Amino acid sequence: MEITEKAPAKLNLFLDTPFNHPDGLPEWNMIMTSVDLADYVKIESIPGRTGIKVRTNTGFLPNDSRNLAYQAARVLQEKYQIRARVNIEIRKHIPVAAGLGGGSSDAAAVLRGLNQLWDLKLNNEELAKIGLTIDSDVPFCVYGHTAHVLGKGEKVIPLKKLPPMWVVIAKPKLSVSTPHIISKIEHQTLQHSNIKLMLDAIEHEDYDSICRYMGNVLEQVTGKEHPEVLKIKDKIKQFGADAAQMSGTGPTVFGICSKSTRAKHIVNSLKGFCHEVYLVRIL
Ligand code: ATP
Repeated sequence: MEITEKAPAKLNLFLDTPFNHPDGLPEWNMIMTSVDLADYVKIESIPGRTGIKVRTNTGFLPNDSRNLAYQAARVLQEKYQIRARVNIEIRKHIPVAAGLGGGSSDAAAVLRGLNQLWDLKLNNEELAKIGLTIDSDVPFCVYGHTAHVLGKGEKVIPLKKLPPMWVVIAKPKLSVSTPHIISKIEHQTLQHSNIKLMLDAIEHEDYDSICRYMGNVLEQVTGKEHPEVLKIKDKIKQFGADAAQMSGTGPTVFGICSKSTRAKHIVNSLKGFCHEVYLVRIL
């Protein structure tokens, strides 16, 4: 029995963190959306055997229990006492440690896939709850599309489909560790933006207001350590994007455009400035 699941990258259209919980994890207030830059995760279940094996098409990803896809299979196997061998093959297209949630999306793909293969009949809410034990972005990745995400990542409120837009994704040649950036957050010094304006903009399918009210408070943290992230953001705006912003803890920056010709111009202009550039659409 096998199934292949698409695991799309996520972007943070809005990201704020008002405070840390006593366990040190941030409270999030985010708007996330899925884009059509995706990994493909093939999941095979062989009944009566044991173990989990992960294979990827990149040399620099762990294949053992450090892989979030492996953790997703293990948590379901243990929770539901399933005696089956799980083989996972990940075709990676999403840049790693980029702020695009690739690992979390692979984990969510395994949860969805095994839910079907093992006929567990879990709904999204139940899968998201299990996903939270793996990473804060997994609950969103279980739902996908566009959502308001709160708490430690466990509260996912689906939002309206976004107006059509083109998205230029630029990944500089540097890796940013999410736990490191989180450890550097000083909530009282951050300039917080108003998510309500952004939620209204999405509700009214108002593209111009979406561009105006996007925001990521962590640009202030990552940008201090890696000023090149902010330079790429400026370049994307200079080249004509309607808005540009860092995703997650970075270092990836994305620009949005209503016109495809403008988006293609930005992609061409970024060559030479940026290591990896993608032109994608919102799912
Ligand atoms: P975050 O969701 O924390 O913002 P990110 O998008 O910045 O993450 P990922 O690509 O998910 O980054 O990788 C973060 C870390 O997770 C890396 O150190 C990577 O080695 C590890 N990791 C584990 N499993 C995977 C996977 N399946 N794909 C990508 N990274 C993985």
